[in-house]
Amino acid sequence: MQRTLIIFKPDCMEKKLAGAVLDRFERAGFTILGIKLARLTPELLREHYAHVADRPFYPELERFMSSRPVIVMALAGQGVIGRVREMLGPTDATKAPKGTIRGDFGTDQTVNVVHASDSPENAEKEIARFFKPDELPG
Ligand code: ADP
Repeated sequence: MQRTLIIFKPDCMEKKLAGAVLDRFERAGFTILGIKLARLTPELLREHYAHVADRPFYPELERFMSSRPVIVMALAGQGVIGRVREMLGPTDATKAPKGTIRGDFGTDQTVNVVHASDSPENAEKEIARFFKPDELPG
C-alpha cells in the first residue's frame, strides 16, 4: 500500500470544490489516513516548493498558496501516487484534458486546484512535513 500527500489549494477552497475533488478520490477507492485544515506559512512553502523557489513565478506561487487555509490530506491506496497524478492532469490547467481535476476545475499554470506528491520518496517527506506521526495510523 502506497501513501501520498494531497493539498486542496486555495482556489479549490474558495470555489468550494473540496467535496467534488474528495469524491473523485473516494470513488477511486483510496483511503483517507489523515486530513486537516491549515494555513501554510511562507517558511513551510519555501521548504515544500524548494524545487521551484528560484523560479520567477515563485513569489506569486507563495502569495497564492498562503492566501487562505487549505486542506492537507494523507491518502493511501494501490499505486496512489501515479494514479492521483493521472487524475490531476498536467501542471498547466489550460493544457489539462477535460475529465482531469485540473482540466475540469483549474485556471492556469499556478492556480491548479490540487497538489499531489510525485514520487514515493517525496510522498514520505511531504507527509512528515504536514503530519505528526501520532496524527496518522501506525
Ligand atoms: P506539480 O504541482 O504539477 O507537481 P511543479 O512541482 O512543477 O508542478 O510546480 C509546483 C507548483 O508551482 C505548480 O503546481 C504550480 O502551482 C506552480 N507552477 C509550476 N510551474 C509554473 C509556471 N511555469 N508558472 C507558474 N506557476 C507554476
